[in-house]
Amino acid sequence: MESYIGLGSNLGDPETQLTSALAALNGIPDTDLVRCSSFYRSKPLGPGDQPDFINAVVLLDSGLTANALLARLQSIENRQGRVRGGIQWGPRTLDLDMLLYGAEVIDEPGLIVPHPEMRHRNFVLIPLLELAPDIEIPGLGRADKFLADTGRAGITKL
Ligand code: AMP
Repeated sequence: MESYIGLGSNLGDPETQLTSALAALNGIPDTDLVRCSSFYRSKPLGPGDQPDFINAVVLLDSGLTANALLARLQSIENRQGRVRGGIQWGPRTLDLDMLLYGAEVIDEPGLIVPHPEMRHRNFVLIPLLELAPDIEIPGLGRADKFLADTGRAGITKL
């Protein structure tokens, strides 16, 4: 299944965090990293006194179920030192979000796909549209129409 994953980091040398995450994603069993967007710098959404984020989106082609893939993403986050239970929207070394899993709509306690916040976040939409300009968010229509709502403020390509 083709799955788009959002990456973000604003601690511990964010570019290095993302580069290590790419290697880890490519090492997930039965999974290929097909393409990666450019890296982008974005202003933090939450508490203002934290460093800028570096964000990117990758396309994976995985034979894993959505739940098994999410478990792999979480183990990569944990290995790269993210502290769970910190402040929501606070600084983090690595955040991996499953944005899309094929055209599936999943609504389970630990997994909601399409990712519910993706349409509100230009730092997700811009790299996603770089990889897939015509992509649809299942149930919601073309991703590019949401970028018209978010605008392009606060994000620059590295
Ligand atoms: P966050 O702290 O924002 O990264 O949220 C992590 C929590 O969101 C975990 O408990 C996941 O089980 C849950 N979650 C639900 N849907 C998703 C998704 N599509 N991608 C990543 N995490 C998800």
